[in-house]
Amino acid sequence: MSALLTAPFETKRILDKYGIHAKKKFGQNFLIDGRIVRGIVEAAGITKDDGVLEIGPGIGTMTQELSLAARHVTAVEIDTSLEPVLAETLDACENVMILWQDILKTDVQQIAKEYNGGRPLKCVANLPYYITTPILLELFQQKESLQSITIMVQKEVADRIIATEKDKEYGALSLAVQYYSQPEVCLNVPPHSFIPRPNVNSTVLNLKIRDRPPVETDERYMFALIRAAFNQRRKTLANALTHGFSYGGQNLTRDLVTAALEELSLPADIRGEKLSLSQFAALSNILRK
Ligand code: SAM
Repeated sequence: MSALLTAPFETKRILDKYGIHAKKKFGQNFLIDGRIVRGIVEAAGITKDDGVLEIGPGIGTMTQELSLAARHVTAVEIDTSLEPVLAETLDACENVMILWQDILKTDVQQIAKEYNGGRPLKCVANLPYYITTPILLELFQQKESLQSITIMVQKEVADRIIATEKDKEYGALSLAVQYYSQPEVCLNVPPHSFIPRPNVNSTVLNLKIRDRPPVETDERYMFALIRAAFNQRRKTLANALTHGFSYGGQNLTRDLVTAALEELSLPADIRGEKLSLSQFAALSNILRK
């Protein structure tokens, strides 16, 4: 294997050699701290039995560690200008396949089939922060092909992901992630662990994909309610749903919403941000009838 990129001078040498400047438009911040890289791989619980999906290998820093720990790594990278770099840094990593494409247009089931005998993959990524939420939502749509998602995100996004109805950071993202997975905070990562330094702190989360959802309801209907509730989070839930909800041609009258809240013993002027996931599911089950 070529020299490990977790030595900062090696990262600088590679960046200089290939004239690479981190591209803002692709959210590029390259890791240079070996302890953090190993910490992420450890948090993901990668073993020699595992097929891994890495999003955004960049110059290959984490890919090198994943290659050592896993049976196979499929790395999806959008920036084709990194091709000569990865050819050098991953030259000895025979168990790594790079797909030069957008993760938002990637068929994860196909990767699981082709490289992991159809078994679910472990996804690991130092995510491009500008599209964290779309990537997560896309991965959850393909959750049957994933066991877990271990990701580095902006600390502020991690706070939103793990928030409950008791926290001010609570919102639609918290509910979506907690519906599909069990999130756990693994590491906090300071800006000096990257080149270039981001101007935010970062957090590594492990999201264990649930075998079945924690609540029983029509998933699409419930998330339409959640979206309407948080689109106008300053309004009462009754107001937000009366004016902002529509699903398959169904709108909601104030009377219907008020009656449903009463059935759940919730105050008529409650805001959506005060409802737990199970309360949203219960509301969805009443209103869907
Ligand atoms: N894994 C490397 C590391 O930790 O040093 C790089 C992480 S950097 C924060 C994010 C990486 O994701 C970059 O390599 C970037 O080019 C890539 N990326 C950005 N948008 C992407 C997309 N839509 N699909 C696939 N990769 C993407």
